[in-house]
Order: sequence, then structure tokens, then C-alpha cells
Amino acid sequence: MNASIQDLELVSVTKRYGATVAVDAINHHFRPSSYTCLLGPSGCGKSSTLRMIAGHESVSDGAILLAGRDISHLAPAKRGTAMMFQNYALFPHLSVTDNVAFSLKMKGVDAATRRAQALEMLSLVDLTDLADRLPDQLSGGQQQRVALARALITRPQVLLLDEPLSALDPFLRIRMRGELRKLQKELGISFVHVTHGQDEALALADEIIVMNNAVIEQAGAARDVFNAPKTRFVAQFMGGHNVIALPEGQFAVRTDAVDITSIENGMLEAVVKAVEYQGTHVSLSARIAGDQEVTALLTDTAFFSNPHHPGDRIGLHWDANNLHQLTA
Ligand code: ADP
Ligand code: MG
Repeated sequence: MNASIQDLELVSVTKRYGATVAVDAINHHFRPSSYTCLLGPSGCGKSSTLRMIAGHESVSDGAILLAGRDISHLAPAKRGTAMMFQNYALFPHLSVTDNVAFSLKMKGVDAATRRAQALEMLSLVDLTDLADRLPDQLSGGQQQRVALARALITRPQVLLLDEPLSALDPFLRIRMRGELRKLQKELGISFVHVTHGQDEALALADEIIVMNNAVIEQAGAARDVFNAPKTRFVAQFMGGHNVIALPEGQFAVRTDAVDITSIENGMLEAVVKAVEYQGTHVSLSARIAGDQEVTALLTDTAFFSNPHHPGDRIGLHWDANNLHQLTA
């Protein structure tokens, strides 16, 4: 094992709340200086996992290692991690600067040093001009950047973010996710970001961990997880895939990898059920044997050069290497 000493590692980490097993013996080795998204539906155990890493929740079983040391039982401030909360949790009566400097004040750092470091963090998140404002004089996006600066002032090795974009409107959410990504690259520390949105995870992450029912279904580079889902759950949750049962087993094939051809040239025979125009693409769904539905996402040029209509009999075709066998 040539793990860098900077690595964050989960070793058989379990969280129980009474009879509920929220996280079930998960293992993961986070790549250093990477942006990792913890992705999955509500209730699958993402926040519990993040809070255990942060130290805001106790570990029922297993260990959390950072830089080779077991941090499972250390206080949050002693771990080398920092958490940015969903609701930002800013102090309403403190200025932006004092909010950011708060943890240094708790540590007994003198006022001048605190201020200098807070201003440095505010410049990092582009908030220098608003340093003297109170939180309620800021927009949601600006409050979020204050929360980010407040977490980063502790110089964490790992920044933990729990659904950090969910309170923002769609426009700001896309802008902020670009800023988070840029900040992570600039700082070179690891970000672990919890989200239930697959588009958000794909846009941000070097690596995606897909969780379901308290376990990790699949983890890997974002592109690998999207391209080659290993389970039906991952294929359906990531979207853009068909899950098809064939005599050899269950397979996933991307909707944009399915081509329409004549019945003689097709691998499968199908009947067109619906055609939906989506601007750049046309989504065509067709029924195949076994009462299964397959969606083909065609470019508008490909579709309109040979349009099909509900009731047409067609052939479906794909390259064999686009078919991924599912294990469950
Ligand atoms: P996610 O963040 O993926 O939505 P959570 O980690 O918040 O999931 O929750 C995982 C499971 O643990 C859920 O069934 C949830 O109801 C349960 N749970 C979370 N926090 C607590 C708690 N403090 N006490 C009891 N059960 C909890
Ligand atoms: Mg959660």
C-alpha cells in the first residue's frame, strides 16, 4: 500500500442510531487533494458519514484515519477537518470579519492576527468589500461564502460540505459550484461534498461515492461511475441509462449509445412508443420483448434525417462495448 500520509481513510465505519443502521461498515480511501462527492438518495447515510468524519457524530464501529492517525475519537477542532453547514450557521450579531475570525478568537489568537487572517480568507472568497457587514445584509450566496471562509480559516486538510448548494436558486447554484471547484483546486486540499443530485456530483467531483441503504454501491472516477455502472441502482440513479434484461443477465446501456436502424440490421426488434423533442436531442422510447422499454437519445440531426413515429417497427443497435453487465 503506497498511501500518502495525507490521505483520509474510512475503515469499516458504522453508525447505529438505536436499531437503525445508518452507515454499515463502509470502507473508502479518499484520494489526496481531490474533490469527492458522496451521492445518494435521502436517508442513505451521507450526512451521518460526513458528521462522523467531522466529529459531530460518534463512530459506532470502525475507524477514521487522516494522515495515518486514527481521528475517530478526537474533538472536531483537533482533527484537521472543517465542516461547512447547510444553513451556514452564521452569528447574526457579528460582522462578516468577526464571523470568519471566530474560531481563532476561541483559540486565543490576538485581535490583529485574527483580523489579518480573516481578511485573507475573505479575499480568497471574493468578499473583501463586504467585511464589515452583518450576515442579514448579505445575499444567500454571499452568506455561503462567509461560511466557507469561516471553515477554511482553520486551515483544514479536509473540508466537509453537507449539501452546500441546496439553499441557493438554480442560477447561483451553478455559479457557486464552479467557485467551489476552483477553490478546491487552488487550495489543493480535499473536499468531501454531500449531495443527492447526480448532475451536481458529475459537475464537481473527481471521484464519486454512490451510497444506497447505508452502504457504498460504487465508488470511482466520476466518468467511470457514469459510464460503467455496476448495479441497477447506480445505473438508474445516475440517469441516462437503460437497464435491460437479456438472456445473459442484466445490462446497462447509455441512452445516447442506442442507435435506431432497420429491423434486419438491429440487435433487438422494437416498436416506437413515444418521441419527445428536446431541442438538441430527441428522446425516443420503444418497447422490446418482455414488455421492457428502451430509450434512445438521438441528436436532432440523426432523428430528423430519418424520423420515426409511435407504432413504427424499428431495430435497435449499440456497440457491444457500451453494454455493461450489472451485478445486482
Ligand atoms: P442522508 O444524509 O443520506 O439523507 P442520514 O445520514 O441523515 O442520511 O440518515 C441516515 C439514516 O439515519 C436515516 O434513516 C435517518 O432517519 C437516520 N438518522 C439520521 N440521524 C439520526 C439521528 N440523530 N437519530 C436517529 N436516526 C437518525
Ligand atoms: Mg443529509
